[in-house]
Amino acid sequence: MEDIPEPELKPGHVKIQVEWCGICGTDLHEYLGGPILIPDKGHPHPLTGETLPITMGHEFTGRITEIASDVKGFRVGDPVIVEPNIRDNTCHQCTHGDYNLCPQGGFYGLSGWGGGLAEYAVIDARNVYVLPPSVPTDVGVLIDPLVVAWQAMLDSGYAPGQSAVVIGAGPIGLALILVLKASGACWVGVSEVSPARKAQAEAFGADDVFDPTTDDVAERVRERTQGLGAHVSFDCSGLESTLRTAIASVRPKGTAFNVAIWEGPTTLDVNSLVTGGKKLASTLGFAGVHPSVISALGDGRIKPADMITARIALEDIVDAGFDELVRNKDEHIKIIVHP
Ligand SMILES: [Zn+2]
Repeated sequence: MEDIPEPELKPGHVKIQVEWCGICGTDLHEYLGGPILIPDKGHPHPLTGETLPITMGHEFTGRITEIASDVKGFRVGDPVIVEPNIRDNTCHQCTHGDYNLCPQGGFYGLSGWGGGLAEYAVIDARNVYVLPPSVPTDVGVLIDPLVVAWQAMLDSGYAPGQSAVVIGAGPIGLALILVLKASGACWVGVSEVSPARKAQAEAFGADDVFDPTTDDVAERVRERTQGLGAHVSFDCSGLESTLRTAIASVRPKGTAFNVAIWEGPTTLDVNSLVTGGKKLASTLGFAGVHPSVISALGDGRIKPADMITARIALEDIVDAGFDELVRNKDEHIKIIVHP
């Protein structure tokens, strides 16, 4: 924890007084074993030019306190959510709507230009969305896992009304259950080991929760899907065993979709795809899905408030935030921080 100067407004930007910031699994990885994505000394981020120390926190909401004179569409006091993607806005991906895949990309709160674990942040107005009155700023923080899930759902080719399997019921897995059910999934099965997370998966609307240590998950999934397997599976765990389950759980021509960041290379029996004409695909982050998720929160199709398992003050973030997540990881979904 350090005192730093209040950031100054820049053209094209708004200044936000942060109200709530979520702690993400990425933040915990950075705290325990970083720097990973945070630019280390001697390796500045290509867009921000910054290296450690940076201000962390990329899942945050707040209220607008200042607006640059060239920015339109905001009022002082507006409650807002920040889309944390930093991008160059010039490359092929950025100019075709896929700015999550910008080769120079990064994130507020990881790559520099400030973050949400602070009292104020100055953010490019293109990254700022106004929250509707029905979405308070604490619940707004949960948009971050939900946009990851929404992007995965879109990119997987899943169509409303189909069946899906979610492997691993951490924050992203739970968010996937919520968005799949909100989009009319006919059946959502979950594979999870931890008793606490199994209970959370059920509470968030999973139709069946399987335990891969005692169940043949793919077989259980076929029993629930007319003997065929699910249309799509989402691997949120990133282990050789979970990828195998993801492929085995989908029907012929189905898609096993990777949402996880892996800790290293893996081996894959490619014939497990070929023999069913199955697809293996992936996505990273999100681009352009905030309006869809904000709308679904605003009209109550998605009710994520129970994902908040603790609210803490910024000065307590080490013990009640990072260290608490190490001690009691399975008990928590999202700890949110008020600066
Ligand atoms: Zn780009």
